[in-house]
Amino acid sequence: MKAVVVNAEGNGIEVVEHEKPTIGHDEALVKVEYCGVCHTDLHVAHGDFGKVPGRILGHEGIGIVEEIGDEVTSLKPGDRVSIAWFFEGCGHCEYCTTGRETLCRDVKNAGYSVDGGMSEYAKVTADYAVKVPEGLDPARASSITCAGVTTYKALKEAGIAPGQWIVIFGAGGLGNLAIQYAKKVFNARVVAVDINQDKLDLAREVGADIVINGKETEDVAAEIQKLTGGCHGAVVTAVSKVAFNQAVDSVRAGGTVVAVGLPSEYMDLSIVKTVLDGIRVVGSLVGTRKDLEEAFDFGAQGLVVPVVETVPVDDAPEVFEEMAEGKIQGRKVLDFSRV
Ligand SMILES: [Zn+2]
Ligand SMILES: [Zn+2]
Repeated sequence: MKAVVVNAEGNGIEVVEHEKPTIGHDEALVKVEYCGVCHTDLHVAHGDFGKVPGRILGHEGIGIVEEIGDEVTSLKPGDRVSIAWFFEGCGHCEYCTTGRETLCRDVKNAGYSVDGGMSEYAKVTADYAVKVPEGLDPARASSITCAGVTTYKALKEAGIAPGQWIVIFGAGGLGNLAIQYAKKVFNARVVAVDINQDKLDLAREVGADIVINGKETEDVAAEIQKLTGGCHGAVVTAVSKVAFNQAVDSVRAGGTVVAVGLPSEYMDLSIVKTVLDGIRVVGSLVGTRKDLEEAFDFGAQGLVVPVVETVPVDDAPEVFEEMAEGKIQGRKVLDFSRV
């Protein structure tokens, strides 16, 4: 079968012919339809979290269950399921038993610590594979599997209420979904900040009330304070320290800054502002199985429509390059249904 893997040097990707996986008692074999390309795949491919040569990439996989292990009761052949970054938790630690399973210290991550969804066939741990509801386009669902649930969860963490202001830093693959969930699901008012005008145009199209070009605006935080009186929350999807610092200065007293993007840097945090203004800064990582189920459901209702473009699997190397250069609008999704 065809698969996109980390190359032998552990510093890039290649499309190879790979052995088809075999399943255990608690696993299911999935015939993959689509798998989105995410910024995290770039980090994995380049060995930023440690080199993993030969690993099948991908954690935005969607496919149809073809076969189940003899102990599986939660899935049946024909079900459409996702292959997500949160692939499996231990099931019994303090995080797994308190609704915070993505923080499990023994977590398995698809496309990093175990083989992921960028192959014609993938195996999943059946109890951890979230079903995709009827009525949700599978190519669009791939984008919700990571980008969608990540931003939906981040908005939950921001504690945003209807009518309140939220600022989204970065309007790319994650950001445009954050804007949609904020607008359509949380009924918030939305400011979008990016340094690329085409991404801001997309932000406007998907519902942002105010868009701000970080390159052309002298003091982004001051502008946001002026226009909104300070946002109640901020979600930072941008991979830039500057955006994190602007986010802290963009919220009003009592505001929450949710960190999602992963620049390998430190942010500047004024202790005085944090204390006197009662600012909360929280990190948020993908979402639990329940979060993903909810994120899918809003997609199936048509409230959130990921912007995706399907491309042939053999184009994966070019897509990774475009991703590295920040050229992609929404998401590019590898089409395994036509391999
Ligand atoms: Zn991802
Ligand atoms: Zn655990």
